[in-house]
Amino acid sequence: MCACYLTLHTFNPIQYNKMERIKCLIIGSGPAGYTAAIYASRANLKPVMYTGIEPGGQLMQTTDVENFPGYPTGIMGPEMMEDFKKQAERFGTDIRFGIATKVELKGDIKVVHFDDGTSVEAYTVIIATGASAKWLGLPSEKRLNGNGVSACAVCDGFFFRNQEVALVGGGDTACEEALYLSKLCKNVHMLVRKDHFRASKIMQDRVLNTPNIHVYWNSETAEILGDTVVTGLQIKNVLTGAITEVAITGFFVAIGHQPNTKIFEGQIDLDEQGYIVTKSGSAKTNIEGVFAAGDVQDRHYRQAITAAGTGCMAALDAERYLTEKDIH
Ligand code: NDP
Repeated sequence: MCACYLTLHTFNPIQYNKMERIKCLIIGSGPAGYTAAIYASRANLKPVMYTGIEPGGQLMQTTDVENFPGYPTGIMGPEMMEDFKKQAERFGTDIRFGIATKVELKGDIKVVHFDDGTSVEAYTVIIATGASAKWLGLPSEKRLNGNGVSACAVCDGFFFRNQEVALVGGGDTACEEALYLSKLCKNVHMLVRKDHFRASKIMQDRVLNTPNIHVYWNSETAEILGDTVVTGLQIKNVLTGAITEVAITGFFVAIGHQPNTKIFEGQIDLDEQGYIVTKSGSAKTNIEGVFAAGDVQDRHYRQAITAAGTGCMAALDAERYLTEKDIH
């Protein structure tokens, strides 16, 4: 048991005009959101968490997580997120399904509106909305999305058992997804736009030692073929301009993510890529009482463990802010 948060406050949410007022609102339910929830609950901030569109966040689409301390034999992403959830619930976090659609963050009392029509007033807001998959931007990718085009091998790989598939990307996600697909599919055609991977060495080695993953270096997607479903792919070599055609039924995009910050534009300081800017060594944003944690503010590390760490920071910062403001 942590000895840091044994103080008991006597705060109850106040209901008026059908809008509740709470001490701490957490938006997002990945490792950052849940860790913030665990710390905030134990500090008696009585946090309310809104899960967002993808409860559990990106780890719900991951297979083995081998690098999160405390799981010596690894754990499946969804199972780990279920553990996070149980731990947050154990200390009383009020977890609700809902998507924040509009925020008013200036002033002492922040107001956040949700897609079900409800609104919440909060003295502190912890933003842990994470990041979403990026797409290539080809019209054929959009047209065939859901009909052979996917940004999640773990979700959709099953549909392409014993078939030919392609995957774009050279990072850890791409390698992880290529390995996952290699166990299900006949062949995985992997397009990497440079002459090297961005992924960690261990993942690169695993991919290069898998006989049914074929890496195409310096290669881009010229066109995804098919009228109603994916039937093939045109691969362009960026050095020679040569086009190669392969027959495939599945096309997977694994080229990274973008932060989910659209609703905060114009209110919170964002960097040029849209990530929330936090003050060095803290989870504080440019707005008092608003904190950010996890991938939504981290374009460098983007790991579950770093997200969890910043979730802890955000809850501690929120607690100190409330103490300074004498809000109990
Ligand atoms: P990354 O940003 O690390 O990699 C993106 C990859 O996609 C790069 O190879 C990039 O190429 C390529 N790319 C980007 N845009 C395009 C495009 N338009 N066309 C073609 N290729 C493109 O993202 P990831 O999602 O792979 O990883 C994010 C973070 O999560 C990283 O820090 C990673 O280490 C971590 N992670 C860790 C895992 C683990 O440890 N098990 C599993 C998954 C992720 P280029 O290199 O040329 O820019």
